[in-house]
Amino acid sequence: PAAGMDVRDPPGLYRTLLSIQHPASLVRKRARSMEKKPMTDKAVSESASTLPRGTLILVGTPIGNLGDLSRRVIEVLAQVDLIAAEDTRRTRQLLSYLGLHQPLTSYHEHNQASKGLELIEKLRSGQSIALVSGAGMPCISDPGGRLVAECVAADLPVLVIPGPSAAVTALAGSGLETERYAFEGFLPADRKARKARLLELQKELRTMVLYEAPHRLKKTLQELIGLGFGDRLVALGRELTKKHEEFLRGTVQGLADYYETNEPRGEFVIVLEGLTALARRLPDHATVTGGLGQAGCQSDGTADAAALLKQLLGQGLSVKEAAREAAAQTGSKKNELYALAIQIQENEPGES
Ligand code: SAM
Repeated sequence: PAAGMDVRDPPGLYRTLLSIQHPASLVRKRARSMEKKPMTDKAVSESASTLPRGTLILVGTPIGNLGDLSRRVIEVLAQVDLIAAEDTRRTRQLLSYLGLHQPLTSYHEHNQASKGLELIEKLRSGQSIALVSGAGMPCISDPGGRLVAECVAADLPVLVIPGPSAAVTALAGSGLETERYAFEGFLPADRKARKARLLELQKELRTMVLYEAPHRLKKTLQELIGLGFGDRLVALGRELTKKHEEFLRGTVQGLADYYETNEPRGEFVIVLEGLTALARRLPDHATVTGGLGQAGCQSDGTADAAALLKQLLGQGLSVKEAAREAAAQTGSKKNELYALAIQIQENEPGES
């Protein structure tokens, strides 16, 4: 199996499963059943044995545990004309684990312009092509988005065979607000752009989901503390679906302290509390310095948006009026203040 892939499910056991529904036998069975009666549209769309021609198929692969490979994923990989892989070595290992030998070609960040043209030509000629990333879902902090856009522009069909994604896996288990979330992927590596992004995130109302490399985790937690995120709740999803998977939960400050004496190892997703949940938990804390100021002006400390809203609501203004008034006074966005005002009101209904 590929490096980083967890083979806790012994291949023997997995192969037993496959021998019941091995891709090749599935294909034969499907072919036989098709001889008997025509398939409905629904059955056709559900069947990988009738792969649509000239279609780009985005295939989600495990983020660690090979047991997460779905039957549909295996069927599709067994039948496409070509697999475009971000990491051909890793995908070849996956294929050989499955006993498959489909032709592979590389499609990654550095060849996507030229390779995209080639793949579009092949799709036009009727080939079905699977796009597979190193792990998880293609297009999610992985190559593919550009190719999908090119297919859409060329009027070529795109199909998605969903698989795990570290972001959603971490979000689901985070214990933080999941109603609304913002996927941020990796923060920019460039220092200035990174700071600008973090300043933007100070004002983010929704739960945030970020990817981070282990060697940068400590620094990122410190950067977050430096920008006033120290009291935010955070959940770190580490090595998800693998042997040593765990969630580390606490405040940003608490986890930064923990990593003072523990070296971060493995793959991490950072799930970070947004301003709405923070305002609900610590209404007095969601100040301009906590992120409701104008972009770039978070540290002037002149206005306390939450306190101001509380005061205005206490004076009998409606949520809408309070948000409008607070926006006029602080220069913050009215819709952000509106959301905060709703949270404050829900938290302290007697105040309005
Ligand atoms: N396309 C992938 C997806 O759908 O999740 C993400 C690819 S991105 C290049 C790789 C990053 O995803 C890692 O640096 C890490 O932040 C996160 N990641 C991937 N697998 C993970 C796992 N098993 N546990 C925790 N984080 C993981």
